[in-house]
Amino acid sequence: MNSVAEALQKVLENELPVRTETVPLMNSLNRILAEDIKADRDAPPFHRVTMDGIAIHSTQLLKKALFPIEGIQAAGDAQGRLLDPENCLEVMTGAILPENTNCVIPYEQVKIIDNVANLLHSDFTENQNVHLKGTDAGKGDVLLKKGIFIQAGTIGVMATVGVSNVKVVKPPTITICSTGNELVDITDNPLPHQIRKSNVYMLQAALKSLGIEAQTLHIDDDKKLLKAALEKLLHKNDILLFSGAVSKGKYDFLPEVLEDLGVKKLVHGVAQKPGKPFLFGRRKNTFVFGFPGNPASTLICFHLYFKAWLLTHLGKQRNSLFATLTEDVSFKRPVTYHLLVKVVAEKEKILAVPVSNSGSGDLVHLAAADGFISLPAHLETFQTGTSYPLTFLTQPWFN
Ligand code: AMP
Ligand code: MG
Repeated sequence: MNSVAEALQKVLENELPVRTETVPLMNSLNRILAEDIKADRDAPPFHRVTMDGIAIHSTQLLKKALFPIEGIQAAGDAQGRLLDPENCLEVMTGAILPENTNCVIPYEQVKIIDNVANLLHSDFTENQNVHLKGTDAGKGDVLLKKGIFIQAGTIGVMATVGVSNVKVVKPPTITICSTGNELVDITDNPLPHQIRKSNVYMLQAALKSLGIEAQTLHIDDDKKLLKAALEKLLHKNDILLFSGAVSKGKYDFLPEVLEDLGVKKLVHGVAQKPGKPFLFGRRKNTFVFGFPGNPASTLICFHLYFKAWLLTHLGKQRNSLFATLTEDVSFKRPVTYHLLVKVVAEKEKILAVPVSNSGSGDLVHLAAADGFISLPAHLETFQTGTSYPLTFLTQPWFN
């Protein structure tokens, strides 16, 4: 059986062909940038006044404290000029620094009487309260690198350099399939032996938080129906996400049907808990992820294998994180144990507080977890204060 690392490696080495598209700036939120964004001019583009006050030339500071006001330089005015170096100009935040001045003194530190500014002290220096042209970047510098996740701050940068349309990664087409005769829809009233399907909604939400809209479909535990549905789905999608029907049960038809349809199984079975029957396969450029049906197995495998693979091939740089256990844990089986945790930040440490639960079918406690830590297969006891790889369930772009 594959270890977690081997399974991940086998998944990651399959390249997902990436397509791009150009969208209006505001439609790029939560997408992955597919081009470098450069400064179209220096940032800031002019010596920018950063306080409301008066502008003078700093050489005057040792000579005098009284500065008659010549006029006003407001934000949005073309650059004015101080005519007499012994005078000052009133200036506003965001204005271009007037010619013949190099120092801005805030109103709080002057007293203005009869149109003359009286400095309360002379402790000012050249360029004080001036954001110098080109301090943050020069024209042509790369401000945003392709592969980053577009958030409010990145939208702001693109707006300031005049990017109204931007090249982003085009999301792959994905269908999420639930399987199981015990499942009914959320609007139905389940009979005593039935449950409402939750995994498809959970996976659809997880994809939505990555900026991807996916279709859903339910397929009963019937080999013929599954085969017919899969044949169509394989043609129409880049990726299929299945929940359930991948294990060894009498009605777990997915592995067999995939084989019949020429889907090459690259992973089936991982030495981990939960998620042991996890399956990954491909037919040409269509990729199939089979997540075991228990909700925790589904969500953990989604993050550990699918999301890692997707983001890697979409060009997103990934972070590896570690979190420190807050209590002793023991797990005696020689498989990787994915332990659900609450994540707490304490000083410079990320703490992992175990969320007690009744196993991979426990959806109630799954919803209380921020993520999971992966405890290695070769150990049986995991002490308070030791650290392990953390995967977030609630911060879609962190890992
Ligand atoms: P399976 O992997 O098909 O053997 O299913 C394992 C467990 O997960 C069973 O108890 C199923 O009822 C449950 N399960 C499967 N699919 C879903 C789903 N979409 N929503 C909630 N539970 C599910
Ligand atoms: Mg099933």
